Amino acid sequence: MALGTPVGSFQWMKLQNKSNILNTIRLQGPVSRAEIAGLTGLTPPTVTNIVAELLEADLVIESELGESTGGRKPIMLRLNADGFYVLGVYAGISKVKAVSAGLDGSIRQRAVRSLPKEPSREHFLNLVKEVLYEVMEGSNEKYLGIGVGMHGLVDTERGLSIFAPNLKLRNIPLKAELEAEFNLTVEVENDVRALALGESWFGQGQGLANFICINVATGLGAGIVLDHKLYEGSSFTAGEIGHTTIDINGPQCTCGNHGCLEALAAGPAIAERARGRILQGDSSLLKAWTDGRLEEITAKMVHDAAKEGDALSIGVLADTGRYLGIGIANLLNTLNPSRIILTGGVAQAGDFVLGSLKETVAKRALETPARAVSIVTSEMGEDADAVGALTLVLRRIFTPMGVNEL
Ligand SMILES: [Zn+2]
Repeated sequence: MALGTPVGSFQWMKLQNKSNILNTIRLQGPVSRAEIAGLTGLTPPTVTNIVAELLEADLVIESELGESTGGRKPIMLRLNADGFYVLGVYAGISKVKAVSAGLDGSIRQRAVRSLPKEPSREHFLNLVKEVLYEVMEGSNEKYLGIGVGMHGLVDTERGLSIFAPNLKLRNIPLKAELEAEFNLTVEVENDVRALALGESWFGQGQGLANFICINVATGLGAGIVLDHKLYEGSSFTAGEIGHTTIDINGPQCTCGNHGCLEALAAGPAIAERARGRILQGDSSLLKAWTDGRLEEITAKMVHDAAKEGDALSIGVLADTGRYLGIGIANLLNTLNPSRIILTGGVAQAGDFVLGSLKETVAKRALETPARAVSIVTSEMGEDADAVGALTLVLRRIFTPMGVNEL
C-alpha cells in the first residue's frame, strides 16, 4: 500500500464497512443484523451502529420478522428501494434517453428524443436536460445522482465528453453543465463501458470477475471488466475493438484505417455488403423491398430478409459472425475472459450471426481460453443503455471503495 493513502485509517474503515453492509442488504435482503455480521465478518456492535445510521438516512428499512432459530424472531432489513431515485441518461448516435429508477434499478419513468445529424453543443445539452426534466416531472422523489453513458471518448475523471465522433462534437463538459443545472452529483462514462457495468449489476455479468461486453450497432465497441473492475485504459480508450484490424485489405473505416472490425461487422457494414452483392447481380428480397433504392437497405432489413429465408441476407449475416468471431478470438487470446456478452442490434440477429461466430472462435482462439468462455447475448432489453448509465450512480452509493462487486 502506498504511503500517504488513508487506507487503514478509521474513516476509511468506517466507509468501507458502511458500503459493505449496505451492499450486503442490497444483495441479500431481507436479512437480519446477525446474518449481516455473519456474511461480512464484522462484529455485531459494528453492524448495529452502522445499520442505525443507514436507517436514519432512510436508505434501509426494517421489514417483516424473520424465522427464529429459537428465541425472539429477528427484525429483517431491506433496501428502501423506493425511498430514493437515481437517473440514467444514454446519449448515443441518434437519440438521447433518460430513465428514473429506484435503488434496485427498476425503471419508473423514461423519456426519449431523437438527435439531429450534427447538433450544436447547446442543442445537444438542451436535449439532455429536456429528457431529464421530463422523467422528473411531477414527482417529489429524492434523487441521488445522474449517470450519463455517452458515446465516444469520455474523460471519466472530469466528466467530459472529449470527442463524440458521430455528433462531431468535442469537449462537452457534461458533468459541470448537469451538476449546475440539477444540483445533483453527475458521473459520466463511455456508453459501452456503462453497458458493461449494467450487465455486471443486473445482467449476465453478475458475479463475474472477468468479462467483456461487445456492443455491435452503428458503431462497435467493448466494455472490459477485469478483476471486477471496469477497465478504462491510460487515456480512456480501452475497448475500442471496433478499430482493430481484421483484414488488412478490407474496406476503409470511419477512422481512416482499412479492414477494421467495425468496417466489417457493424450495422452499416452489413447493409453495405448486402448492397454490394446485389450490385454484383445476386438476387435478394432486399431489392424488391427497397424498390431498387439500394441505399435504403439497413442491417435490420438484412435480418428481416434472413428470417424470410433470403439466401443473400443469410450469407451476409454469417460473414458478419465470422468477422466478429475473429475479433473475439483475438480478445480471448489477449484477456482470457469467462464470458462475452453481445449487445446491440446485431446481437438480436441471434443464430444468423452466432452460429458462424462460435465456429470461428472455436477454430481461431487458443483451446484453453476458448473453452473457458461462454458467449451469450444480453437479456437486459432495450433500456440496457440507460440502466447501465444509472448504475454509475448505484456504484458510487453502494461500493464507493470498490469492495464486493464493481
Ligand atoms: Zn476503424
